[in-house]
Parts: sequence; structure tokens; C-alpha cells
Amino acid sequence: MLISYNVSLKPYNTFGMAVNADKFIRISSTEQLLEVIDLGLEPLWILGGGSNVLLTGDLPGYILKNEIRGITIIHETDEELTVEAGAGEIWHEFVLWAISRGLGGIENLALIPGTVGAAPIQNIGAYGLEQESVFTCLKAINLKDGSEKIFSREECRFGYRNSVFKQECKGRYFITYVTYTLRKNGHTLNTSYGAIVEKLHEKGIQNPDIADVAEAVIDIRRSKLPDPAEIGNAGSFFKNPVIKEGHYLQLKKDYPEIPSYPADAGFVKIPAGWLIEKAGFKGIRRGDVGVHKNQALVLVNYGAGTGKEIVELAEDISETILQKFKVSIEAEVNIWK
Ligand code: FAD
Ligand code: NAP
Repeated sequence: MLISYNVSLKPYNTFGMAVNADKFIRISSTEQLLEVIDLGLEPLWILGGGSNVLLTGDLPGYILKNEIRGITIIHETDEELTVEAGAGEIWHEFVLWAISRGLGGIENLALIPGTVGAAPIQNIGAYGLEQESVFTCLKAINLKDGSEKIFSREECRFGYRNSVFKQECKGRYFITYVTYTLRKNGHTLNTSYGAIVEKLHEKGIQNPDIADVAEAVIDIRRSKLPDPAEIGNAGSFFKNPVIKEGHYLQLKKDYPEIPSYPADAGFVKIPAGWLIEKAGFKGIRRGDVGVHKNQALVLVNYGAGTGKEIVELAEDISETILQKFKVSIEAEVNIWK
């Protein structure tokens, strides 16, 4: 096991926060992970692609950089293919692997940054699809005693940008492998999001296949989202709030143009980006942090910003929205303090 000391994490988080880790260990197998656990090293911080974390200061303890790779086919029928992916596989590469084999179910999730192992943590989702729809199970190692546990879909308790790993199992397990069942035939494409329909129309595609949808998603994302290589960010900073229908109808009286999407019975989803824009934060800059000029849901680091400054800005935004709309918005990004 090779431990590196006093390592800058700037290249390892998409916000580009310049903080240091006391100790940094690359983990490329379950055996290496068990070695760390056997030594009783603490505290342990698990890092994938660093695209959903906000680092607010130097980190004591051990960063475990997940590099467990490999894609293994474990079961195949005429209709489906079940595949186990190492948690350190790059999610988008996994999507491309599936598309190149005509396997459906994750095409709407193309170009989401990060690793396969982090995908179940917040049940990644985009354009009306979440990874849970093709998820079968995952293997995870208990960081306290090194025991392996297989989590079924039910045990993961997936929700909107949520799972048991953001709740009671938070920080307790290292996910090592994730198994997905992808569809060979009879896969129904989800083109319910207007942007996909528009993009396919623009390209003159009337009967899209899996690859067409993935390409449409990639084109839309490249044109709309700030690239972390150019401007530090972790995607959507907040989750979209889901509010009671009565509350929504009240808001609609004051703001007839308020956008909304269906949620569970009696509830309505409101785009947090709209609330942020309406509260006057879109495009604002404070020092070297700010709110992106085109995507109000994305907080950005222009270069020398700090995690603490992002937290202050996020608190200001959520307090203003609470006062103005009586709507509480919650961070989606994992804040490491
Ligand atoms: P990290 O940021 O490294 O880790 C996130 C959290 O998970 C941390 O708390 C970490 O400790 C924990 N963790 C990571 N790996 C493991 C593991 N193997 N075992 C246990 N714990 C682990 N998300 C969406 O859902 N939909 C989107 O469309 C989307 N678009 C994005 C666009 C951009 C430009 C960016 C920057 C981010 C976007 N995200 C999106 C957020 C992010 O890409 C996902 O949440 C992704 O799954 C994070 O993966 P990661 O490997 O970078 O995780
Ligand atoms: P958008 O298309 O401008 O839409 C704004 C919001 O409205 C989205 O957040 C989306 O909710 C919701 N929405 C739009 N059309 C919808 C529909 N037909 N049904 C239900 N909800 C609908 O959003 P965007 O910012 O460009 O993002 C596009 C997709 O990529 C979204 O699904 C978004 O979640 C995902 N994305 C996620 C991140 C992240 O970091 N988590 C970053 C970038 C993009 P949902 O978010 O619930 O889908």
C-alpha cells in the first residue's frame, strides 16, 4: 500500500477547491481496501471523481481514491444482459460501453461525470431517468470491520437524488462493485424531456434508437452546462424542491409563470433554478465564487474561491428563497467539513 502525504486535492474535485489531504491512498482492489481497514486507519474519506463534493478545508486522515476497475458480464438472456462494473469505472465510459453494444437503460445518463460507485449514492438521474431503473445490486465493504455486504435495490432505498448511503449508511460503506441489468431488446426510450424532443427534431431523427438519444443528451449537456475543466462546479448545487399542491397554488397566484412538474400525489416539483433566478441570484459573483450566468442551479468557483465562500453563498440563497417563497431548498452536493 502506497501512502502519499500532503497531497493537493485541486485536481481531484470538479469545484477545483485548493485544499490538501494529509494522506492519500489509491485503492484498486477490495484486498487493498481490506489492508487499510485492518490497519485501523481513520478517518477515511472515499473519493470517486470528486464531482459531487464541496471541500471546505484541509482534510485530516486518509483519502481513499477509488480506482477499482473492470466490467464483467455475469448473466445474459435474449432480452437482457447483467453486468458488474468496478466502482472506480468512469460512469460515462460505462454508458458508452453499453451503447456500443446496443444495451439500453442508461442512455439518458450520458455525460454525467464521476464514477460507477457513486451513481447509487444519490441515485443519479437526468432527463427523466434514474440509475435505479436498471440497478440490480451492489457490493460494499463495511469500513469498521471489513465485512462485505450485498445491497439489493430495496435495501438501497433509492429516492430522488437519495439512497440509504446518504442517510443511515452515510460514510459507513465503501461501494466496490455495482451490478446493472441492461436491455438488449424491447427497451422503451424515455424522451419525455422537452429538450430531448427538440434536439431529435432539430437533427431530423423521427425514430430514435439508444445511440440517438445518448447523442442528443450529450449535445444538450455540452451546450448548456458549464464544463468543470473551464469553470469549477459540481453540477446542480441544490435539489429541486417538492412542495404541497396547496402551497404551489398559492405561489401561482403571485407568480403565474412559475414552472412545475408532477410529483407524488398531492405534491408538485418546482425547479430550484427558477426560484434562484427569481430571487435575483442568477449570474451574481462574490469574489471568486458565484452563480452561473446561464444555469442558476450551478454554483461556480472562478479559480481562487473557497468551499467556505460557496457554503456562505448557498446559505444566503436558501435563506432568501425560504423568506420569499416559504420553500426550503436542500443541497444536493456532499459538503465535507
Ligand atoms: P464523488 O464526488 O467523488 O463522491 C460523492 C459522494 O459519494 C462523496 O460523499 C463520497 O464519499 C461518496 N462516494 C463516492 N464513491 C463512493 C464509493 N465507491 N463508496 C462509498 N461512497 C462513495 N448528478 C446527477 O444525478 N445527474 C446529473 O445529471 C449530473 N450532472 C452533473 C454535471 C456536472 C457538470 C457535474 C460536475 C456534476 C453532475 N452531477 C450529476 C453530480 C455528480 O456527477 C454525480 O453525483 C456523480 O455520481 C458523482 O460521482 P463521483 O465519483 O464524482 O463522486
Ligand atoms: P431543464 O431541462 O432546464 O429543466 C429544469 C428542471 O425542470 C430540471 O431540474 C428538471 O427536474 C425539471 N424538468 C424539466 N423537464 C421536465 C419534465 N418533462 N418532467 C419532469 N421534470 C422536468 O434542466 P437542466 O438543468 O438542463 O438539466 C437537465 C437534466 O439533467 C435534469 O434531469 C437534471 O436533473 C440533470 N442535471 C443534473 C445535474 C446534477 O448535478 N444533479 C446537473 C446537470 C443536469 P429534474 O432535475 O428532477 O430532472
